[in-house]
Amino acid sequence: MDKWHLWINGKWVEGKQYEPLHSPSNGAVIAHIAQATVEDAKIAIEGAHSAFQEFKHMPAHERSQILSNAVQLLEQRKEEAARIIASEAAKPMKSARTEIIRTIQTYQFAAEEAKRIYGERIPMDAAVGGENRVGFTMRVPMGVVSAITPFNFPFNLVAHKVGPAIAAGNSIVLKPAEKTPLSSLFLAELFQEAGLPDGVLNIIPGLGPELGPVLNTHPYVKNITFTGSPRVGKEIRKLAEFRKVTLELGSNSALIVDEGMDADAIMDRVVEGAFSYNGQVCISIQRIYVHRSLYETFLKKMVTRTKQLVIGSPFDENTDITAVINKDSLDRLATWISEAVGLGAKVEYGGTVEGPIMIPAILTDVPHQAKVIQEEVFGPIVSVMPFERLEEAIQLVNDSRYGLNAGVYTRDINRAFTCIHEIETGGVLINDIPTFRLDHMPYGGIKDSGTGREGVKFAMMDMMEEKFVSFHWR
Ligand code: NAD
Repeated sequence: MDKWHLWINGKWVEGKQYEPLHSPSNGAVIAHIAQATVEDAKIAIEGAHSAFQEFKHMPAHERSQILSNAVQLLEQRKEEAARIIASEAAKPMKSARTEIIRTIQTYQFAAEEAKRIYGERIPMDAAVGGENRVGFTMRVPMGVVSAITPFNFPFNLVAHKVGPAIAAGNSIVLKPAEKTPLSSLFLAELFQEAGLPDGVLNIIPGLGPELGPVLNTHPYVKNITFTGSPRVGKEIRKLAEFRKVTLELGSNSALIVDEGMDADAIMDRVVEGAFSYNGQVCISIQRIYVHRSLYETFLKKMVTRTKQLVIGSPFDENTDITAVINKDSLDRLATWISEAVGLGAKVEYGGTVEGPIMIPAILTDVPHQAKVIQEEVFGPIVSVMPFERLEEAIQLVNDSRYGLNAGVYTRDINRAFTCIHEIETGGVLINDIPTFRLDHMPYGGIKDSGTGREGVKFAMMDMMEEKFVSFHWR
């Protein structure tokens, strides 16, 4: 279908307006996408609210079965799904395939977690006056979840919202990123075929600033889950009032490489963490602090390895580096490199722009106040700096408004624990890159990187109310 409509109440609904969707690689029009209006969003929210009245009574094993069915259906169409990501996001096919494998796992975890929603027994007689009572908590679904998602993992980051919401017994209104709506629309009929009742999942592509206010303030919306930039996260937080809000935001993730490490042994992982999908990953390595004793060797090897990355079309099997998501982003990245150079930084490799592609850039001597250090780059630019004392590296890692993940390579257990205790991020990954994520891990940030946690079980906790019951039996 060249023309994609809105998915509301289990039906395709024509939009009032359609926008062309362009390939980031060559600008070709891939499809025309209906743009939901505020009125459409209200209809979707009201539909989700009435679907919830039934869905909240569906037994856990049935919700789990629906998610398992979706897993099987996606398994059968995984190559088709990966090609959608490659075409609308310009993600190299090998990374797109990995994303689909992870998406399948995320829904699989959701199918499993749907059966593990427990409460707690409260010993009422621990307090005087609590005798002859049984107290317990129940986790209950909340109602309509409003889910707003970014472009960079258009299948798996959507799965991190849709999977937990269904597992918990909620209904959903999903607004995918303007740049990558096809990956979400693909789910509409898939979940219907999996047995999801009409109205439980609604998908309404459209403009964030236009739909954001209704999606975040409608009285039927009980829970908001957002992944995207801190700027939008802040706006959502302001609108949300007392609703539970999960915000998975940006980062300028750092890696510490301590003395005694073998640069060769870790280089493939480091380059992957820095430049995979052109660095358009929220936990992409942006800053590397390397112990002075191996700094020169590390830098040389990093440049050599980065030069080997294959630049090309997302559909070529060997491609590593592709078009940056759009021209605005490309221009911003080039400006930030110029700013850093103006402040004294040196470009060791890359940073040039070829058509829609930026050659992966490695910068050194970058002053701490440069945008490529302070702000989220979200592109193929990495700064590599030496350090003498571990405390100094930790201080630089922490001197940031972000705090999502940090990685530390070290051979020394005491230094590892110093990092675990002192680094201020949502996750610390020892002997790994900050870019490492499994889909059942608790995942999320502090500071401007957000609030709340994803990772299926943890996202479900945020999507349920804890109801307390006291039973006075005598
Ligand atoms: P973005 O913030 O521009 O857009 C994300 C979504 O928000 C889109 O669907 C967009 O339409 C919507 N939006 C825009 N303005 C809005 C408004 N006023 N109200 C409501 N919704 C609005 O982000 P992006 O460019 O798509 O993605 C990149 C950002 O996402 C980066 O900052 C990256 O770090 C972050 N991200 C975070 C994680 C994480 O898990 N922490 C994962 C992936 C991406």
